[in-house]
Amino acid sequence: MSSAALVTMGDTPKPPAQPLVTRTRVRVRGLVQGVGFRPFVYRLAERHGLTGWVRNDEQGVILEVQGGACAAFLDDLARERPPLSRVDAVEAEQVAPRADDRGFAIDASARAGTASVAIGPDHAPCRACLEELFDPGARRYGYPFLNCTHCGPRYTITRGLPYDRPKTSMAGFPMCAECAREYHDPRDRRFHAQPIACPACGPRLSLAVGDVARRLREGQIVALKGAGGFLLACDARDDGAVAALRARKQRDARPFACMVASLASARLLAEIGPDEAALLEGSPRPIVLVRRLSGDRPSPRVAPDLAWIGLMLPSTPLHYAIFHELAGRPDGVAWLDAPLDVALVMTSANPGGEPLVIDDADAAARLGGIADVVVTHDRDVVVRNDDSVMRVVAGAPTFLRRARGYVPEPLRLPFEVPPVLAVGAHLKATVCFTRGREAFVSQHVGDLDDAATYRFLEETIDHLGRALEVTPVAVAHDLHPDLLSSRRALASGLRAVPVQHHHAHLAAVLAEHGQRGPAVGLALDGYGYGSDGGAWGGELLLVDGARFERLGHLSPLRLPGGDAAARAPWRMAAAALHALGRGDEIIKRFGHMGANTVLLSMLDRGVRAPWTTSMGRWFDAACGLLGVRLDASYEGEAPMVLESLVTRPSVSPGAYRISGEGTRVLDLLPLLAALGGRSPADGADVFHGTLAAALVEWAAPAVRERDLRTVVLGGGCVMNEVLTGLLVEGFQRQGITALVPRAVPANDGGLSLGQAWVAALELME
Ligand code: ZN
Ligand code: ZN
Ligand code: FE
Repeated sequence: MSSAALVTMGDTPKPPAQPLVTRTRVRVRGLVQGVGFRPFVYRLAERHGLTGWVRNDEQGVILEVQGGACAAFLDDLARERPPLSRVDAVEAEQVAPRADDRGFAIDASARAGTASVAIGPDHAPCRACLEELFDPGARRYGYPFLNCTHCGPRYTITRGLPYDRPKTSMAGFPMCAECAREYHDPRDRRFHAQPIACPACGPRLSLAVGDVARRLREGQIVALKGAGGFLLACDARDDGAVAALRARKQRDARPFACMVASLASARLLAEIGPDEAALLEGSPRPIVLVRRLSGDRPSPRVAPDLAWIGLMLPSTPLHYAIFHELAGRPDGVAWLDAPLDVALVMTSANPGGEPLVIDDADAAARLGGIADVVVTHDRDVVVRNDDSVMRVVAGAPTFLRRARGYVPEPLRLPFEVPPVLAVGAHLKATVCFTRGREAFVSQHVGDLDDAATYRFLEETIDHLGRALEVTPVAVAHDLHPDLLSSRRALASGLRAVPVQHHHAHLAAVLAEHGQRGPAVGLALDGYGYGSDGGAWGGELLLVDGARFERLGHLSPLRLPGGDAAARAPWRMAAAALHALGRGDEIIKRFGHMGANTVLLSMLDRGVRAPWTTSMGRWFDAACGLLGVRLDASYEGEAPMVLESLVTRPSVSPGAYRISGEGTRVLDLLPLLAALGGRSPADGADVFHGTLAAALVEWAAPAVRERDLRTVVLGGGCVMNEVLTGLLVEGFQRQGITALVPRAVPANDGGLSLGQAWVAALELME
């Protein structure tokens, strides 16, 4: 190990003879590198008049302090920490005092063994950087790439470990003398800030911020290179601009997220509770789904027919600089406390569902037809990273999409496991690596429908694997053998571990709660390949480590037309009418959608109409019967609109049947029958209320019979805030605690974690 002192406090007095001089060696584990931990220790040692040293090593931070106040130093070390750090463990031991200590030194990073230290995620500008950004006298006034040890890009600019400037996309920007002075000064908040930059030496924007703001004000569509890739921006209050963006992106109804300058500005548009406020203002800066206020701001075209809107606060200095222009360039940061009536649509610039564009040439070619202007800069995006999306469900935050600001933060596992890779399924793919007691879930990759997304999956496996320096011994994949992800796992040459889709959904929740089962769980999902090859998705499972048992399922519905039915709620409504013995109504009600005698004979004869037990398809059937949405332009559209209509969930007594001896089947046909003659809003109330009551009555006995106290909830339908809220309350009334996915999405974005957990447990058996 190198011990070359980079910095030494020259004039620290020798420690006094009284009180007793002791020397303590301290090991700190956690996210403690690249977050200003060593200068923090330096200042703490200085405050307590201690000598010694601190350095990074492969396990985190190690330090020694000597003097009369070691105990007080340790107290402060336990109490205080730099804002972006996470301390998992502090281990202290007494060692012999040394006579040759001269002050306190920060040693250069030593490098030995394998890395156990992760790169941190990207963080929004800190308060001190914002003050500088809006201070006309500051060197970095209006500079859209300022950052410090407490904020700025990390994961998206990092090519490999150790996290040092030469291994980032800042490598091509030699520091100017002034930046170098800050970088080497342990009292400066930019001490060892790897992405340090200023207008003299750092990256530059291709268009002045003032021009970007002017174009947005004029209703233009601007492609903007951000931390994790290009986003498309326009004035969210401008119907014409939003309509043009929809038309050019060919995105019919999918909701757009909006960026606003501050929490005060967000409150102009939406109802925001304390949990939501904390999420919005937190440094990862996710998009947060919040209940929108009535009125026409932003344009109703931003999120058609939805009661919720995705809002986010600026996540980079560039965003702040644009809002600052739009606010009229006020001095200081006080303007951020007042509402600013400006909202910008910010949507990922990925034509046709392909991965986010990160490359300048690609942006010019692919976004030229969508944006009026492409604004770029000369710092590469190394790692593509979409915005994260969160929502408060059942009183706590939950992910809809986990990416920028959170990745690559690990999840703690309850014990050490073998290194495995898990590759997810097909939709909303992510990958997961385990290393020691940690699991690293990648950023959202997307649906593996096209070659570009599949390439992104490969890149993600490669980059994350290299950054973690982990060599997996097995690859976990979905049980469906024909998925691209499964084929990749089977061709890897490593041991392949197939994991059933809904087993993985529930195992992901167990993993984040540090459990392995046995546990009873409800997987409320869209589609997953069942152990019998069928289309599962409404499953009551007993999960026990690497094994599971199907205790029950929703009664099956036909999928008339096969996969086409998954995007057409009217087809599921037709299947429901047929099952209710009301097939004669189908053509009358859905003839204009394409229902015809061919469809009827599919249902009569069961040809091209496979069975599914999917919860999602039961939602679709309800939407179709209520006329809420007959067709869906994006996955989940119909159920989201239905959820938006709920005001007061109610239970229609007896509108479900639970039957079966070995396998318990929950039949919801009576509930669909009970929707007849109801308005969409009334129907939405009855559907949600009754469904939740039915699910609790179905699952609770299975929990109690096994003397368990918890039930696990997983699958895409758990993102439905109304349903999950009702389930948590309903189970609580039965004395059962529901475990809800918090650390990764309930949808297929969380599958890789569950797959990895099941495979790791299987390897350990
Ligand atoms: Zn900062
Ligand atoms: Zn500089
Ligand atoms: Fe799923």
